[in-house]
Amino acid sequence: MAVADSDSCGTCEFNAANQGGAGRALHGSVAYTCQVRGTDVDNPFWTYCYNHPRRNPLLVTTPRGPLWAAASPRLRQIPLEGGHLTERLYLPPEAQPPPEGNRYRRVPYFEGVRPLDSDEGRCAVCGEVAERTIALRLPGEGRRCFCSVTHYLQHWLEHAADAEPYRGRRPVPFDIVYGDLLALGEELTHAEAEFASTLDKKPLLELLSGLEGALVQIGQGYMDIAAAEQLLRAAPRANGGDMPVSRHILRAWVQMARVGAALREEPPDRQLVSGALRDVRDALSRFFLAEPDKERRIESGKRWWQFWK
Ligand code: SF4
Ligand SMILES: [Zn+2]
Repeated sequence: MAVADSDSCGTCEFNAANQGGAGRALHGSVAYTCQVRGTDVDNPFWTYCYNHPRRNPLLVTTPRGPLWAAASPRLRQIPLEGGHLTERLYLPPEAQPPPEGNRYRRVPYFEGVRPLDSDEGRCAVCGEVAERTIALRLPGEGRRCFCSVTHYLQHWLEHAADAEPYRGRRPVPFDIVYGDLLALGEELTHAEAEFASTLDKKPLLELLSGLEGALVQIGQGYMDIAAAEQLLRAAPRANGGDMPVSRHILRAWVQMARVGAALREEPPDRQLVSGALRDVRDALSRFFLAEPDKERRIESGKRWWQFWK
């Protein structure tokens, strides 16, 4: 994987080794310490999380979901249908690996232990012997093997202490999320006007964070923003290509990242923020126009995004 294309810890500005510019770590012997998670990172160019600026348009600095390690592409491939690991076991979107078709899927650390690429072993979930496995070496135990990303995720969700926030969840009904997205789009108009007169970032950031949460819940979240930009430039009229997502949503992500970057400046550029916010709203309304069924099904009183953080 070319480092320049990477959304790994090795290129992340929140990595202490990159202070003074993403990618600086490539040129020296430095400690790879994550300033968001307060931890040293093993294999920084093969480790990932959703706080990386390429997947974090608002540049949030509280940890977002697990820390991920790259998994071998030679594992058994078992589809992860909409987060349903089994009939009863559901993995919510904020704990799912990114949807893009990268050869190297990602698996979460298990209570701080990095899952490793390993050779033949018997899967702890399905009992089958696989030539290549993901292996866990937990303190005081032998090797625990998994035949596939899906079975590793199942085991992690059922047993890891750090998976507790994701256990027992159910998908948020589409009607509710789409209703919230519409309501958030409208509120954005007011927030934009308020920001233009007060320059108060907090209410705007909270609203955008709710918007991001809603996109995550409908499976359109944590896009690689740099990849989305490239895709939009290369084929402005095409759909999501390898990304299972509409180009309107890609645009919304790219524009949200522009807002995030502008709000970081002191003082923020009012016009830049307003222009990008208008683009976010426009992209969302085009998305809804392209999906008429979604609009008809909306019936929302509840705003689950208010407890999304
Ligand atoms: S763990 Fe996340 S925030 Fe920390 S350095 Fe890695 S990608 Fe960046
Ligand atoms: Zn298995």
